[in-house]
Amino acid sequence: MSSTDTPPPLYSAREPVFPRRVSGKFRTLKWWIMGVTLGIYYLTPWIRWDRGPNLPDQAVLVDLAGRRFFFFWIEIWPHEFYFIAGLLIMAGLGLFLFTSALGRVWCGYTCPQTVWTDLFILTERWIEGDRNARVRLWKARWDFRKWRLRITKWVIWLVIGLATGGAWVFYFTDAPQLARDLVTFSGHPIAYSTIAVLTITTVLFGGFAREQVCIYMCPWPRIQAAMMDEDTLTVAYRSWRGEPRGKHRKAEDAEKLGDCIDCMACVNVCPVGIDIREGQQLACITCGLCIDACDDVMERIGKPRGLIDYMALTDETAERAGSKPRPIWEHVLRPRTMLYTALWSLVGLGLVFALFIRPEIDLTVAPVRNPTFVTLSDGSIRNTYDVRLRNKNGEERPFHISLTSDTLLRIDLEGTDNLVTLVPADETLLQRVYVTAPAGSEAATADRTPFRLWVEDLEGNERAHNDTVFNGNAQ
Ligand code: SF4
Ligand code: SF4
Repeated sequence: MSSTDTPPPLYSAREPVFPRRVSGKFRTLKWWIMGVTLGIYYLTPWIRWDRGPNLPDQAVLVDLAGRRFFFFWIEIWPHEFYFIAGLLIMAGLGLFLFTSALGRVWCGYTCPQTVWTDLFILTERWIEGDRNARVRLWKARWDFRKWRLRITKWVIWLVIGLATGGAWVFYFTDAPQLARDLVTFSGHPIAYSTIAVLTITTVLFGGFAREQVCIYMCPWPRIQAAMMDEDTLTVAYRSWRGEPRGKHRKAEDAEKLGDCIDCMACVNVCPVGIDIREGQQLACITCGLCIDACDDVMERIGKPRGLIDYMALTDETAERAGSKPRPIWEHVLRPRTMLYTALWSLVGLGLVFALFIRPEIDLTVAPVRNPTFVTLSDGSIRNTYDVRLRNKNGEERPFHISLTSDTLLRIDLEGTDNLVTLVPADETLLQRVYVTAPAGSEAATADRTPFRLWVEDLEGNERAHNDTVFNGNAQ
């Protein structure tokens, strides 16, 4: 650049992208994934699951008031947060695994931003037409037709945004009841404000910002490079086959030129508006739509498919040297991906194991330290304990409390004579327990005597125990 040249501006206005309709195996796969993921998201809060009379019957529910998470037959309590942490670790490892094997496949197929953007573009295409019609409309002046089409599109986008925000709040309370409250304007203000925020962000991100979120806002494209290597499959253009590109106007052109006829089909279908023929780019979400578009062109001009394809860097080097690319399974099954799979499976198995061995009764025992013991009028020594019992069942349960020890100790419960305490359904009860050693006994005169406190669910036949100590008067 000479000293008289004007430097390029730091900011340039967004060039709108008008992706063209395309069909092919990757587009079909994306439709299926979109249908399944949106179906799961919108319908899950409406699935019922009978847990008995005192528990919510919503299959998936984040019960903030009850401080629990329900997932079909599984109930996660706050002290079991390690299950959520484990699931997040699995999600992270799964993302590492897929990125290392298949590049930005998460971005291209399952990321909510991609899925909702696809949905918004689909509705836009229904209303305003395919790429050329949308470009014409964008350039046209604001007449009655343009306003009509734009307002129709925006209203449908708002409805999608509203359904998306609405579905989110249904995960946090009973969906049918909340739906009734919302339509009768008797819902909680937080529900309305959450729906409003999510409606606006869904429409802004999916309808207006679209690829800008992936290119400028999302940190994942910057991080994922650390998980990719020369064996990772990404979308690439076989330039050694396609170049020199050009229109095949005469029969001899086919011999002079490469297979790329410069039809721009791959660029016109790209949801982020890039030209994959310029090489791999940060903006590419590896959605495969340019592969579908180019395969269609290749078929029509009688050339082999795969001018644009999922390909690893090592294949590119091999193909340029005239060798055959390695089979896909060799790229997918390699030490790095196997390590991620092993770690993912280990965490998963650990969670399943923890789920099956977790006790039905939760019990904590806290000795009262102030004072550590009291001497009663008959000379016996008494210790006090706060026993916290959690009943995870949907009905009130009687719990019998007892102790086992190598020495003589007596147990009493505050407020009951028969060592049985009733714990209400799905609640935690604090029961004060007194343990007494007779005057002059071994435990009364020893410094610390270990013993085991037992809790038995008299209806469920479950038992749990906690080891603690009895403090004597050892002067
Ligand atoms: S679709 Fe294929 S032939 Fe057409 S411009 Fe793209 S790479 Fe070239
Ligand atoms: S270049 Fe191809 S794979 Fe990459 S985002 Fe565009 S259409 Fe998808």
